[in-house]
Amino acid sequence: MTATIIDGKAFAARVRGEVAEHVARLKSEHGITPGLAVVLVGEDPASQVYVRNKGKQTVEAGMASFERKLPAETSERDLLAVVEELNNDPAVHGILVQLPLPKHLNEDLVINSIAPEKDVDGFHISNVGRLATGQKAMVPCTPLGCLMLLRDHFGSLSGKNAVVVGRSNIVGKPMAQLLLRDSATVTIAHSRTQDLPEVCRRADILVAAVGRPEMITGDYVKPGAVVIDVGINRVEGEGGKTKLVGDVDFESASAVAGAITPVPGGVGPMTIACLLANTLTSCCRAHGLPEPEGLTA
Ligand code: NDP
Repeated sequence: MTATIIDGKAFAARVRGEVAEHVARLKSEHGITPGLAVVLVGEDPASQVYVRNKGKQTVEAGMASFERKLPAETSERDLLAVVEELNNDPAVHGILVQLPLPKHLNEDLVINSIAPEKDVDGFHISNVGRLATGQKAMVPCTPLGCLMLLRDHFGSLSGKNAVVVGRSNIVGKPMAQLLLRDSATVTIAHSRTQDLPEVCRRADILVAAVGRPEMITGDYVKPGAVVIDVGINRVEGEGGKTKLVGDVDFESASAVAGAITPVPGGVGPMTIACLLANTLTSCCRAHGLPEPEGLTA
């Protein structure tokens, strides 16, 4: 079997297009412009690239983009004051504090200081609890992107066997909650799981969020399964150049799977698209307007 490629890049472009259309309507019909604020502390090169991309795509979608760049030595008190100011700013509908933060700052404390309704990353403890209890929540962007790809592929996820490899708070756990919410039968696997290949081979939907380059080979995949590769790993390629690979060994897995996301061009582009979608949702909720269909969990 040769798997169908799930084109996350094209799907993300579609999501961004839908967001931009909604934003244009919000502006013309209600005079409202959704706004996303990104807070960056320090000068981590990867974070700087992410923040630049987010700002660019926010503006392209017709939204207002606010950036707060703070020096690495910023105190917790000063950072909390910036978050508080954004919480109180009615032009800001989404707040994202770029992680990781410098070591002297308490990430949990900072994330939980964001107003939950503006927490477009979905990491606030109240959004985590809301997702787990089936209440209206802000949902983390990467798992939301995976869910959109899966819904598009299957239509309904009801009754599917899903295995999520990885139990992190930002990917594995919220992914499992979303699959459960769509009535899949969900197993969460992790580093202590016994006979992982056998567990994975039960999956109709296999989500890899392990952080280990190309660990999930074709031996882990049930014939015809849909494989979602969340992993982003930079490894050394030919001629000493670095290249991006996923947590799935694409070559062997795509020979067994029914459909698979590539890296790059699969889940990656969905993350920022979902960030924009969450900001739009937050703006609609703030103004008591209907939420954009198909762009929420
Ligand atoms: P974490 O390191 O936080 O979590 C990794 C998880 O994988 C842990 O639960 C760990 O288990 C589990 N794990 C590690 N080794 C094994 C193993 N040998 N067998 C089974 N399970 C194992 O990673 P994240 O969740 O933050 O990220 C996962 C991947 O997704 C990374 O490649 C990351 O770069 C990528 N990513 C991509 C994003 C995107 O936009 N596409 C966004 C965020 C992340 P245990 O808990 O037992 O230690």
